[in-house]
Amino acid sequence: MSGCPGGTGRLTVDLDAVRANFAAIAAHVAPAVCAAVVKADAYGLGAPFVASALYREGCRSFFVAHLSEALTIARVLAPDSEIFVLNGLEPGYEPLCADRGFIPVLNAPEQVGAWRALAIERGRALPAALQIDTGMSRLGMDLDCAVRLANDAALTEQLSLRLLMTHLACADTPDHPANADQLARFAAVRSLFPAVPASIANSAGAVLGDEYHFELVRAGLALFGTVSTGTGAVPRPAVRLDARVIQLRTIEPGEGVGYGLAHIASSPQRLATLGIGYADGWPRSLSGCGAAWFKDVRLPIVGRVSMDCMTVDIGALPQDALRHGDFVELIGPNQSAVEVADDAGTIDHEILARLGTRFQRLFIESGVTDIQSPRGLQ
Ligand SMILES: *Cc1c(COP(=O)(O)O)cnc(C)c1O
Repeated sequence: MSGCPGGTGRLTVDLDAVRANFAAIAAHVAPAVCAAVVKADAYGLGAPFVASALYREGCRSFFVAHLSEALTIARVLAPDSEIFVLNGLEPGYEPLCADRGFIPVLNAPEQVGAWRALAIERGRALPAALQIDTGMSRLGMDLDCAVRLANDAALTEQLSLRLLMTHLACADTPDHPANADQLARFAAVRSLFPAVPASIANSAGAVLGDEYHFELVRAGLALFGTVSTGTGAVPRPAVRLDARVIQLRTIEPGEGVGYGLAHIASSPQRLATLGIGYADGWPRSLSGCGAAWFKDVRLPIVGRVSMDCMTVDIGALPQDALRHGDFVELIGPNQSAVEVADDAGTIDHEILARLGTRFQRLFIESGVTDIQSPRGLQ
C-alpha cells in the first residue's frame, strides 16, 4: 500500500512494453527514423514518463500537439532531442517557441510569415517543419503555397527546414485509394524540397509499405501495443486499467439500478459498484453494455455509467469472491482497449486519450515501479 490514496482506480503503464514496441517499429522502418508522438499526455498515460523511457530506448524525435505539451516533455528530455509542435505556432508565443528551440509545424502561410519575421529579428535561421495538405483538409498548406515557398530563395536563409510532412486521412484502411493519391501528391511536393527530410506515416501509415516511410515515421498509438505494429513483432500491451470495488449489494426483482433506473432486475441480482465513471474517461456510451473482468470472469455493466461510478453484475462469481477495495480489470489481458472502443462505438485512441486525472498511476520499467498519486495530490 503506498502512502497516498489511490483515487478512482489504478492505471498501470508498462514502460518496458512501450520501449519494446518502439524498438520493433524503429527496426522495421530503418533507415527511416522512428519518432514518438506523445501528444495529449502520451495518449492519456503520462507524457514525462513515456517520453523519458523512449529517450532511454534511443528515441530523439518527439511530436506533441501544443506548445504547453512541448514544455512538459522538454523537462525530462536531454538537449539532443527535437520536439515538433503539430498544431503550429500559437499566436503571441513565437518568441517562447524559439527560445526553447522547439520546432513548430508551420501549417499556414501566416505562420511561415510570423516565424520568418522572428528569424530576421533574431538574426538567425529558426528550425521549422512545413506541413502540406495532400488531401485531408485539416492542417497544412496547399500545393500552390508549397511551390511558392520552394521558389522563395530567402526562405532557407530564415528557416532551417527540418521536416516536410503531411498526414494520411485513411491510413487505417490499407486498401483505400486515398492512400496512394496522397502518397503521389506528397512525392511531387517532396521533389520541390529535395534536401529536406520527409514524413507521411503515422502508426497505421508505417505498415502500408516501405514507400510510406520516407525519412521519418511518426508512431503514436502503436507504441502502446493496443494494435498490431505490422512489423512482425508481437505488440506488447502497455496499458492496464483497474477499477476499485466501492460497494456490494444484492437487489430484488423489480428494483432498478442507477440514473433513470435504466436497468430493472428481473431476478435477484448481485451487484458491485466500481469507483470509475465518465469523469475518468470511461465512456457513458458503455451504459448497459461493455464489462469489467475479475480474473477471467466477465462482469457486465448494468444501468448507466455515472460521473464517478458504475455498476456491474457479479452473479457469475462465487459468493464473497469480491470484497470492498478489490480491483477489477477494465483494460488488460481479458479486455483490450480496442474491445472497449468497439463496445463504446469509438476508437482505441479515444479510450486511452480520455483516461482521467484521478487514477493512481504505476509506471513499471526494468523491474522498478514508480507510483504517482492522482493528479492534484502531488
Ligand atoms: C496523432 C498524430 C500521429 C500519430 O498517430 P497514431 O495513429 O497514434 O500513430 C501522427 N501524425 C500526426 C500529424 C498526428 O496528428
